[in-house]
Amino acid sequence: MAVGVLALQGSFNEHIAALRRIGVKGVEIRKAEQLENVSSLIIPGGESTTMAKLAELHNLFPALREFVKMGKPVWGTCAGLIFLADKATGQKTGGQELVGGLDCTVHRNFFGSQIQSFEAELPVPELAATEGGPPSFRAVFIRAPAIVEVGPSVEVLASVSVQLSKEESAESDSKVIVAVKQGNILATAFHPELTIDSRWHSYFMKMSPTNNEITAASSSSNYYD
Ligand code: GLN
Repeated sequence: MAVGVLALQGSFNEHIAALRRIGVKGVEIRKAEQLENVSSLIIPGGESTTMAKLAELHNLFPALREFVKMGKPVWGTCAGLIFLADKATGQKTGGQELVGGLDCTVHRNFFGSQIQSFEAELPVPELAATEGGPPSFRAVFIRAPAIVEVGPSVEVLASVSVQLSKEESAESDSKVIVAVKQGNILATAFHPELTIDSRWHSYFMKMSPTNNEITAASSSSNYYD
């Protein structure tokens, strides 16, 4: 079965091209019923408020939540990570919905505005162990979120060093989480679809469906602060 790529807004074409490079067919998803024809789903980066409004308009949230709940592999990149988080902070947005399922809190624009976008060489031992290649991954961060809190079932795959101001931390240098996995959910704060290193796409293709059940409590609290 093909991989679905949510195609409301953002870098869905780039994900489909990245999948093609590893010989996988990606199909654009714009309607709830199209999710029935795919075995896994990528939620791309873009602008999460716009994407949430479009998802609401097309009544996609119930089907997206169901897809995650069924344990099918789902990968969120950047705005897609924000979508999958149980909680998002960092900007008043009027309470757009999130898909949720990933037991974490994301800060929507942790690294600042567009002009503070950057690239970083990230050590990702898990990726190198399963996919081979260099021990690190050249990650592109665009107006990127970061994961500021994780639950016990979340596995941290990558972190990036940041300089925090004195008020934020006694330490001048600290690490923030930018890639995680929890059962069937993979989430990255950066954009692997914008690089030619296709190891994250290959890694995602190896993820198998799980039976994880999302509690009613966690799936009903998916709103921005
Ligand atoms: N920070 C952005 C948001 O809130 C996401 C940026 C991205 O996907 N490149 O939507």
